[in-house]
Amino acid sequence: MINGIGVSPGRAVAPLVHMPEPVTEPPPDAELPADADREHESARIATATEQVRQDLDAKAARAHGDGQAVLEATALMAADPTLLAAAQKRVAAGTAATRAVWEAAEEVAAMLESLGGYMAERVRDVADVRDRIIAQLSGLPAPGVPVRSESFVLAARDLAPADTATLDPATCVALVTAEGGPTSHTAILARSLGLPAVVAASGVLDIAESTVVLVDGAAGTVEPDPPEQKVRQVQAARQRQRHFDGTGRTSDGHRVQLLANVGDPAGAVAAAEAGAEGIGLFRTEFCFLGRTTEPDVDHQAEQYAAVLEPFAGRKVVVRTLDAGADKPLPFLTDTSEANPALGVRGYRTVVAHPEVLEHQLEAIAVAAGRSSADVWVMAPMVATPDEAESFAAAVGRHGLDTPGIMVEVPAAALRAELLMRHVSFVSIGTNDLTQYTMAADRLHGELAELNDPWQPAALQLVGRTAEAGERHDRPVGVCGEAAADPALAVVLVGLGVTSLSMTARAIPDVAEVLLSVSREECGRLAEVALEAADARAARAEVRSQLPVLEELGL
Ligand code: PEP
Ligand code: MG
Repeated sequence: MINGIGVSPGRAVAPLVHMPEPVTEPPPDAELPADADREHESARIATATEQVRQDLDAKAARAHGDGQAVLEATALMAADPTLLAAAQKRVAAGTAATRAVWEAAEEVAAMLESLGGYMAERVRDVADVRDRIIAQLSGLPAPGVPVRSESFVLAARDLAPADTATLDPATCVALVTAEGGPTSHTAILARSLGLPAVVAASGVLDIAESTVVLVDGAAGTVEPDPPEQKVRQVQAARQRQRHFDGTGRTSDGHRVQLLANVGDPAGAVAAAEAGAEGIGLFRTEFCFLGRTTEPDVDHQAEQYAAVLEPFAGRKVVVRTLDAGADKPLPFLTDTSEANPALGVRGYRTVVAHPEVLEHQLEAIAVAAGRSSADVWVMAPMVATPDEAESFAAAVGRHGLDTPGIMVEVPAAALRAELLMRHVSFVSIGTNDLTQYTMAADRLHGELAELNDPWQPAALQLVGRTAEAGERHDRPVGVCGEAAADPALAVVLVGLGVTSLSMTARAIPDVAEVLLSVSREECGRLAEVALEAADARAARAEVRSQLPVLEELGL
């Protein structure tokens, strides 16, 4: 059995297929022969680059949602003239074409790396484009996901965004990577495709091609040659179609709203189709990312209205801009900050740029005025009662009547009572709350085990916040990735959380598991998790007491 970190729940059995070996670095002394036609070589790079861009564009056109966005971003990287120009400069000086592309990519990557944050994360895209151009120049097959007509489990060292985006979930039934962390592209895309996934499973690369493996995306395990009986169980569970009837509740009728996390208008349409009771987290960053100036109020209002539209008459929680750290915005945040995650991010950007919040609230108010959706508005990364109070006042000034805050900072959880006095609701962001509770960067693969929402310390803060909500009669939701894990969802409800917001695909599974337990049972399992020594033990203990997970293949 190989142990890794489960980042997208579900179980699947199929033969293992390895990603093709990556393109290797051409030797540093690869030079053009003295009589080579340098202009011709230079033109070959231009043609290869254009071919790669066209291939990526074509793939983007066939993809959907997150996948499409990722492919479009990689295609943009291929279209960026900087890489091509840097490579051609080297060819003119006598470097062989493949080596020139390699070195040019290193130069571009170093530049992005020095910018930090979101830009630094684009380094993977540069490497992806580089490998595709080199393969094209060398007449090798394009690196990427193998195409198969039968089901398979994909194993890779790590997956590039452009790879994961092109996965066809009809044949690729699970993902396992030897590297990567819980917030890697692999993890995010696997969850949005509803594919079980395990990352940081070192050892998976040693399993022979075509070996049948059982991947358990909740437990974080990969089992080669599983016993026949287990295989049958998983296959039977996968055939059961689950539907959500639109009312999240426990077996004894305790109501828990099941909402969707949405990042753009297309996501809102998909969430409505999945039967989400509303939107529990509308991340508004899509309107701002990649821009050097703030989008105007009309543009924002139009985009927000498009997200509200499929949820007429239902609740939509709009989060104001969460810039900084993992979401840097050049016009708002300083990318040279020494510690961006502990820096001017989230609500804190309001001090230097109050107008950005004002414009956004104006746009939200316009969109809300055009819609019958029940619009709630919350701020990210609030840490003090003072911040909660001024945010609520700003929301009120724009005629929006349901202000809230996200609890993502331990200080806000510890003193939730004081913050809640100023707002109508709170929503716990377990991704950030875990990172700050454990002092472990959420983007850091090596810290994945610490950065696990099952950490009892983080759960304790969730419990404390929920209790404060109960005392002050304020709804307390969870909108971090934790809510999408059906076993953890049970624990969160047991801790007193009143709504769960997650990727729309996870809703039917979470709904069914919740329906199988009483409110009291949720409370007991929450105690079990809180008493565990660490995240691994908490997950294992709770899962062992929820046999329904096994029956549902989760
Ligand atoms: C969170 O931190 O849990 C959250 C939902 O916000 P984001 O992932 O956008 O930071
Ligand atoms: Mg957050």
